[in-house]
Amino acid sequence: MTMRAQTDSKNRRTANKACILSIGNELLSGLTVDTNAAWLAGRLADLGIDLLGVRLLPDDLEVIVRTLTEVAEQADIVLVTGGLGPTDDDLTRQAMARFLGVDLELRPDLLARIERFFAHRERPMAPTNRIQAHLPAGSEPLDNPIGTACGIRVERQGRVFFCLPGVPSEMKRMFSDTVEPELAQRVRTGPLIVRRRLRCFGAGESDIAALLGDRMQRGRNPLVNSTASSGIITLHIVAQAEDTTRAQAMIRAEETALRNLLGELIFGEEEQTLTEVVGASLARRGLSLAVAESCTGGLIGKLLTDVPGASRYFLGGWITYSNEAKIRNLGVPEALIRTHGAVSEPVAEAMARGARQRAQADLAVATTGIAGPEGGSEQKPVGLVYIAVAEADECRVRRFVWPYSRPAVRLRAALTAINELRLRLRN
Ligand code: AMP
Ligand code: MG
Repeated sequence: MTMRAQTDSKNRRTANKACILSIGNELLSGLTVDTNAAWLAGRLADLGIDLLGVRLLPDDLEVIVRTLTEVAEQADIVLVTGGLGPTDDDLTRQAMARFLGVDLELRPDLLARIERFFAHRERPMAPTNRIQAHLPAGSEPLDNPIGTACGIRVERQGRVFFCLPGVPSEMKRMFSDTVEPELAQRVRTGPLIVRRRLRCFGAGESDIAALLGDRMQRGRNPLVNSTASSGIITLHIVAQAEDTTRAQAMIRAEETALRNLLGELIFGEEEQTLTEVVGASLARRGLSLAVAESCTGGLIGKLLTDVPGASRYFLGGWITYSNEAKIRNLGVPEALIRTHGAVSEPVAEAMARGARQRAQADLAVATTGIAGPEGGSEQKPVGLVYIAVAEADECRVRRFVWPYSRPAVRLRAALTAINELRLRLRN
């Protein structure tokens, strides 16, 4: 009976099924969200590797060894993150050795590398870091160019195990540099999957779905999915074909169709941000920009300067939170604020014009609004924001209402202000 069940499960096993183990007590107590598994799941999907599951495990030697034994029954690829640190609670390397039935060996080359890492930072190496130079016998190190914890790669009975650091930046770097190329090799056979992402702003997810109609139908090839975050809708196009050329042609045709349907709602592709797109557009045209921020409190400036090289077009700006600051720093007429209130179309316009003139910029964008949770009224509800874009002889002001939390209103207002600039620059 046992024998038969085993044989069956072996026969059912097809190549390239993966499992992720996320290790650390902080994950089980909810102190840290397991972003590593989510990120790895996305990369595995991109590679066309089936993910059987994700397991969260405590820093407990017995549990880790038992789980490794269990998942090795079903998965060809096991990705482990966390527990490679130098402290007593980091037990992945010990668990891996126990699971393999081998000892941990000191690797002098790894020790020298860790010593160099500290010397480079002019810091002494703590004695506990020595453990990070140990690997289970028969395994290989995975280089960590940005940290002390090297990873571990080991093969056993046709399965491959990769142990990666818990620190997300180190984990991502190691996966991209060394694990991903190897996994890509493993999946070269079989139908090919090509993906492309288009990023949209300015309409809700359901509005976009309505515009796309049956292009978003399930089971279609190419398939179109959407995800939404802070008003940015990402369309994921997935095409399956027998070869890359065919899959890429399908992606291109689908992209053209989506662009025709959505027009200026699409601002970019893959990982591009709104701010990168607007920055590139300003730089290309040789235009300069200033900001005048009230309810966004500097968030627009922050987003603009997230982009390297922003000094080519971004001159600076003002955070004019109080009425006095709007009057003194931007020259907003006091009477305008008295008559219409600080959160109003004329004040937004005066702020943008004032910033443009005082910074001697080609363009200026301004925000004034009620981020909440207090301060709303019948005419001016919480979430009301005016956004103005001033140019040489023109100023366009738009009114928005986002009935969201304070952080969400502010972020949406900042992104929308940047999107208003994008739309101006398109024309
Ligand atoms: P470790 O490699 O276990 O020492 O983990 C180092 C740090 O990375 C932890 O203290 C967490 O802050 C973070 N970390 C570990 N595992 C994860 C995970 N699965 N997702 C996100 N962050 C993690
Ligand atoms: Mg840990």
